Amino acid sequence: MKIVSLILAAGVGSRTGLSIPKQYFEFEGQSILLRAIRPFLSHKLIDNVQVVIHPEHFDLYHSAISETKILPPVFGAEDRQGSSLIGLQAIRKLQPTHVLIHDAARPFVSPELIDRVISELSNSDACIPALPITETIKKVKDGMVLETLDRERLQSIQTPQGFDFKTILNAHLANRNLNFNDDASIAELSGITVAIVAGSHKNIKITNDSDVSDIQDRSTEKQIGEVRVGNGYDVHRFQTGDHLMLCGVKIPFNKGLSGHSDADVALHAITDAILGSAGAGDIGEYFPPEDPKWKNSPSEIFLIEANNIARKNSLKLVNIDLTIVCEEPKITPFKKVMLEYLSKVLKIDSNRINIKGKTSEGLGFVGRKEGIAAFAVVNAQKF
Ligand code: MG
Repeated sequence: MKIVSLILAAGVGSRTGLSIPKQYFEFEGQSILLRAIRPFLSHKLIDNVQVVIHPEHFDLYHSAISETKILPPVFGAEDRQGSSLIGLQAIRKLQPTHVLIHDAARPFVSPELIDRVISELSNSDACIPALPITETIKKVKDGMVLETLDRERLQSIQTPQGFDFKTILNAHLANRNLNFNDDASIAELSGITVAIVAGSHKNIKITNDSDVSDIQDRSTEKQIGEVRVGNGYDVHRFQTGDHLMLCGVKIPFNKGLSGHSDADVALHAITDAILGSAGAGDIGEYFPPEDPKWKNSPSEIFLIEANNIARKNSLKLVNIDLTIVCEEPKITPFKKVMLEYLSKVLKIDSNRINIKGKTSEGLGFVGRKEGIAAFAVVNAQKF
């Protein structure tokens, strides 16, 4: 067997709305075309790879492909069928026994799929990857359904399509200018039996805008992971007392804060922000204030539980920004110990935590020294 692979990349890709043709679009530093070529270039049973490109893409091609093992590209025709024939004629001089024809818009072709096609070529002159159809398929016309097709008898077809070289070249030469979408159709027209092997759901064809944004999203997620943000807000009223709990720190003061738990308004805001980042509701759902169980509880319990919930949702805290709003006590003297407390309990570096103390300029309930408000924002990342 002498196998040459033909990669069809001459399309202009007008359906993607990209500024460059889709096969030259890059993600994670590699063009779609290069990704479509590589599995063939590195396959031990494939002798050579021939790419068919659009004449206007010559510069794009050379900036996308730096492989030296590959044959120089040839220029394709207006349509896919014409380009395929040009490619077949270009590789004729190499005297291949077989050819694998692949669309450049399928960058996720696997070595295993290529193996399956090559292996079937020892029994068949033509072999294509196919997948059963899971959706119901209907024949429609002018926006109306004509009939429902029997999907048991339908399969969706992929590339690479493998052929006995002379057989497919002759079939193309005998059926020019018919504008077929795949090479197997031409083989069928020439009466050649076409075998199928299992395709792959990963071997998708990049066709339109949403396919391109899907792979963009996928590559962005891979690089930075999914990022989540949560915000939290809480208020507690002053009451008589001689200290208050604020961000895990006991602060001597001429008043206390009223609440069912220890009324640590800052930890409640952070707890809600963490739950928010995980899409996991709010503090009251887990620790209802009417439940006597939480009376005078240290709010650290709530904070630790919220962090556990985030972890169960595969989220790791990236940073926390907390703003405590009150006329008094002064926050600044306690910032360092608050940071150390949060860092220890939440197990994140203290340089990922920021605490700000603000007054309310004498305005509103905070300005009248009726209580303390706290705002928190949490950033978390999927792991
Ligand atoms: Mg509260």
